[in-house]
Amino acid sequence: QQPVANSIQVAGVDAAHANEYFELFVNATSMKHILGYYRGLVDSLHLRPNVFNQFYPKLRANLTSWRAKALLKKFDSRAAHKCYLKGKVAANTRVLVIGGGPCGMRTAIEAQLLGAKVVVVEKRDRFSRNNVLHLWPFVIEDLRMLGAKKFFGKFCAGAIDHISIRQLQCILLKVALLLGIEVHTELSFENLVEPDPDKKIGWRAAFKPSNHPVSQYEFDVVIGADGKRNTLQGFSRKEFRGKLAIAITANFINKKTEAEACVEEISGVAFIFNQKFFKDLQEATKIDLENIVYYKDDTHYFVMTAKKHSLIQKGVIKQDFSDTERLLAPENVDKEALQNYAIEAANFSTNYQMPNLDFAVNHYGQPDVAMFDFTSMYAAENASKVVERHGCRLLKILVGDSLLEPFWPTGSGCARGFLSALDAAWAIRSWSMGTASPLDTIAERESIYRLLAQTTPDNLNKDWKSYTLDPVTRYPNLNRAVVLPHQVVCLYDTDNPA
Ligand code: FAD
Repeated sequence: QQPVANSIQVAGVDAAHANEYFELFVNATSMKHILGYYRGLVDSLHLRPNVFNQFYPKLRANLTSWRAKALLKKFDSRAAHKCYLKGKVAANTRVLVIGGGPCGMRTAIEAQLLGAKVVVVEKRDRFSRNNVLHLWPFVIEDLRMLGAKKFFGKFCAGAIDHISIRQLQCILLKVALLLGIEVHTELSFENLVEPDPDKKIGWRAAFKPSNHPVSQYEFDVVIGADGKRNTLQGFSRKEFRGKLAIAITANFINKKTEAEACVEEISGVAFIFNQKFFKDLQEATKIDLENIVYYKDDTHYFVMTAKKHSLIQKGVIKQDFSDTERLLAPENVDKEALQNYAIEAANFSTNYQMPNLDFAVNHYGQPDVAMFDFTSMYAAENASKVVERHGCRLLKILVGDSLLEPFWPTGSGCARGFLSALDAAWAIRSWSMGTASPLDTIAERESIYRLLAQTTPDNLNKDWKSYTLDPVTRYPNLNRAVVLPHQVVCLYDTDNPA
């Protein structure tokens, strides 16, 4: 769709078209449309993504609709916070963020507000994850302060405290772009490339496709935010093994009928202790679950933990193996039986009020039902590292699932992910200010990381509106010196013998 206004040309800038593109951009619901309308918007203003102070004031001066003003007022008040020092703290810092998931984008936004040159690379070509995330209260407040409701009117309306990953990614991508962050999609990070002193070239990265212009960029900080697989090298991980746990997620099309609107959601916390429900379910269907959650969102989203014996009994798992990888290998799973299992569980738990459940489609155009093992979860041993080669230093930080894989029933993924994003930005701030040594920066980052796995909605500071990247605003019992600089020497990998 193209804007239709008669354009008014002011000093080569087409503000009328820019404002029309802005409206289309704000309402866009796919990655492709968001990026397309954004291109129209910045082209009309002869702007290119850039550091905050070079980009945002020009954008702001040309967007005049009430809607734009209301949104930009929110950005203004965030950017005015003293911790960003008017977007000058990180003026000479170049940041690469690997992964455009919720936590990568959240980190990128903070780094941009600090004044860094921020580039996000995302390997996917679209946002297709229907799964719905339960959000902790501070995350809802954080997203509201970033204008989430202006992009998505239904954002956490009333008692709703969840959002689809897809929708969340759309919101954060829009915020990132309006602040001037450079975002490249269909670009996959491969590895870091060491500096070349002869050519006076600093740290770079290799990507797929390999001839992309971003492979020529140099960076001072790299953020690993590519989810639990974590492609950023150099971080060892520890494994937490629990008893066998098999989760099933299923998304059904929300046709938005009156009947569907009447069906009540099931919050995991309410149902986890309801033994009668699970007994009745088993008697009626032979489905044996440990828990089940249902959220009514863009889709009807169900997530449940199923017991192995019932999956075997219902023919979902063909053959029993003690090795979980073999147990859940695609060739050992009957897809149709899995779909039927999910439909039966969904129907029973919603009292058969949604009789015609049709699967929504996933990234691959298949019915959106998945079964996976979450017996083991991983956490990085450390949150940060510094590598120095030929006098060039690179700060590496992990955030989100790359740092700490969440236990999904507690809904902690985004919350701890956002906390780690703010903490990472705090480390970028300290790194950029140049007043702390690399060891001081790492030691502080590691001290704060020690708190992350213990965080709950109850033990964080309750004044969510006051949260900034300064950890003292979020963690009531913060001790920044639990880990001391001499204890993190092993995290400073340098070729400088001095
Ligand atoms: P991701 O969302 O995994 O994003 C990583 C991004 O990096 C992706 O877009 C990927 O395409 C991209 N990428 C990967 N490799 C590369 C590469 N090499 N180069 C470039 N890009 C790359 N959390 C909650 O808060 N509440 C819940 O209720 C909840 N429920 C859950 C239920 C289930 C069943 C599961 C599995 C998880 C749940 N979570 C929940 C966890 C939540 O989904 C994650 O914590 C959250 O998505 C993590 O965000 P992230 O940005 O760290 O990583």
